[in-house]
Amino acid sequence: MEYEPVIGLEVHCRINSKTKMFCRCSNNIFDERPNSHVCPICMGFPGMLPLINVEAVKKGVKAALALGCGIPEFSKMDRKSYFYPDLPKGFQISQYDLPISEKGKVTITLSDGSKKDIGVTRLHLEDDAGKLTHSTGGTLVDYNRSGTPLMEIVSEPDIRSVEEASAYARQLQKVVRYVDSSDADMEKGQMRFDINVSIRPKGQKEFGTRAEVKNLNSFRSLEKAIDYEIKRQIELVENGGTVVQETRGWDDNKEITTSQRGKEEAADYRYFPEPDIPPLIVTKEMIEELKAEIPELADSKSDKYQSEFGLSTEDANYIASDQELARYFEKAAEVSGSPKKTANWLLSEIKPLMASDSFTASPETIGKMVKMIEEGSITGKIAKDHLNEICSKNSDPEEYFKPFKVMEDTGELEKICQDVINRNPAIVADFKGGKEKAIGGLVGQIMGATKGTANPKSVNEILHKLLS
Ligand code: ADP
Ligand code: MG
Ligand code: ZN
Repeated sequence: MEYEPVIGLEVHCRINSKTKMFCRCSNNIFDERPNSHVCPICMGFPGMLPLINVEAVKKGVKAALALGCGIPEFSKMDRKSYFYPDLPKGFQISQYDLPISEKGKVTITLSDGSKKDIGVTRLHLEDDAGKLTHSTGGTLVDYNRSGTPLMEIVSEPDIRSVEEASAYARQLQKVVRYVDSSDADMEKGQMRFDINVSIRPKGQKEFGTRAEVKNLNSFRSLEKAIDYEIKRQIELVENGGTVVQETRGWDDNKEITTSQRGKEEAADYRYFPEPDIPPLIVTKEMIEELKAEIPELADSKSDKYQSEFGLSTEDANYIASDQELARYFEKAAEVSGSPKKTANWLLSEIKPLMASDSFTASPETIGKMVKMIEEGSITGKIAKDHLNEICSKNSDPEEYFKPFKVMEDTGELEKICQDVINRNPAIVADFKGGKEKAIGGLVGQIMGATKGTANPKSVNEILHKLLS
């Protein structure tokens, strides 16, 4: 029988706010001396009063907006109770039934170039626990991480392969970094994955029973663990067994998952509204403000460049991946009215000059120049010959190119052409004898005589007329 995996990811990203979620302790804890960034609040002393960190909430909302999530006006924090030595409060402050955001998506690109949307169920806020270090002498606990702000991003069970899961996780990392909500550096423990995996016979609609593997901290272990789980479950079912719903752990050395405990249900956590923190009200104004701060993501920019402007995938990706260049391009294209031509000039001629200190051309200047070329008022050759000047002096193309404008007067151009024909009987004889290419010699002389201001296309037409 052929099986199909069904996968959903829960991703935790540490929000990069200056301070922790509910106290004013520093959130920069990487490599710090254990228990040096702690206070009664994040150590859960009796009587402590948590105070929510507005910067962290805003960064969470911003990431949610970048994932296309809706932001309800009202949400609240809830207590999720469980006992563990790294959790001094005895509960985590998280969000249960009214999270800060819901229903977004992540668009992934697969190796065959196809795209797929993976649904995001919700992004919610919570605080992290401390960290245990087991050694031969006993177990040590560091509370620096305790109370640091997290956003948990839960996906719909839309993922169908290791490749899709990996692409989803990588895209998510890009998004949270792009909006500067999380540094998402896995080496520093700022991004962790829980995977939920089930299998079902191909064609079956209902999902199978899932196993969850918690706390994977690299793309590699994410991929390996999913791959292992799919194979384990298929083998189990093929041998007449059944998958049980449980929480498993990943052994990075042996590269296997092992059963840890039965899956907790919501009731086990005794969720109830956090009484010390008032509801979170996110106003429409605040949402608009945060939306305005989100730069358009490189991927959607590239899509737009391709579908609306007709740029090649390669050129579109190249420009979109560089925020500065993208801004420059968009402005220049707006002025020129010809995005594709603007991109060609930008990438082939202007980009190499941009690196120089003397480059001062504004995107408006480049846009105007491309517009003049497109309208046929100057030739591409003239533009190229004077590009250094334009780019280093930011000269106004309209003014600068006045003496170099394409000759509008075809009567005068025709006179020059006739003149050159009269002076070159040998070339004319070659051409008339069937050497089509000989005409290039005449064109060159005419361009010289007009200092490059003749439109090569008109010159060709006139020559053919006069010589026929
Ligand atoms: P929790 O793990 O806290 O109980 P949920 O029930 O919301 O939370 O599910 C967590 C994750 O499991 C989600 O990412 C969801 O898409 C995924 N999931 C749910 N059912 C299945 C399934 N049958 N197979 C694979 N993944 C699943
Ligand atoms: Mg879970
Ligand atoms: Zn603290």
